[in-house]
Amino acid sequence: MKIKFLGTGGAFEPTYGNSAAILEINQQNILIDAGFTIYPKLVQLDFWKIDYILLTHLHNDHCGSLANILLHSCFYANGRKLVILYQTETFRDQIKSFLNIQLKDVEKYAEFKPTTEIPGLFYLDTFNRHSEGFQTFSFIFEEAGERLVYSGDLRDCNFLFNHLSTLPSLPTQVYHDISFDSTNKGHAFYTDLIPYQAQFNILGYHCDPTQKPADNTIPLVYDQPDLRY
Ligand SMILES: [Zn+2]
Ligand SMILES: [Zn+2]
Repeated sequence: MKIKFLGTGGAFEPTYGNSAAILEINQQNILIDAGFTIYPKLVQLDFWKIDYILLTHLHNDHCGSLANILLHSCFYANGRKLVILYQTETFRDQIKSFLNIQLKDVEKYAEFKPTTEIPGLFYLDTFNRHSEGFQTFSFIFEEAGERLVYSGDLRDCNFLFNHLSTLPSLPTQVYHDISFDSTNKGHAFYTDLIPYQAQFNILGYHCDPTQKPADNTIPLVYDQPDLRY
């Protein structure tokens, strides 16, 4: 398993790109999230070896350029429909309604398959734990005796870590959204993540790295050049 981020910023930090990543698992590339800076980033990299798209939620910094990415793949890249993986049928229908407004008939440009298509991909329903009444998900990937966790946007990091504690022990890398602003109620505040460092390797993303306070001990994806495009 290999992950490389296309952006590590928050919703209002386009300088760092919208948080999104390419995860390689079973020799296939999954694009995790497709915010409004991601299409230009893929064009800049000329990276179209995308097999699947997986969305944590439908906020614009996570799906804002999805329609463009689908169209580009059909018309300019390799002429094929990308596969959008869906966690639940309700979420699939939400993605479809969102895209149908933009694309008229989304089935012309994308295929939809359940996440069970990918062995070793699991999701955690984090509804209401990022934004009130809003559907969000975290992802857990397992391959070759390793586990990789992608929080998505999640205020309630205790929920995710409590779940991880119930799983069989495996070397685990957790990528968690992080906030350095205590008034931000949408993301995990860094002091809430720090206690879990005793048990888990954690890297933070979805932030402005220049706002990192001196007492923060969570390393940031932004500061790891190997983890970023
Ligand atoms: Zn976000
Ligand atoms: Zn969000």
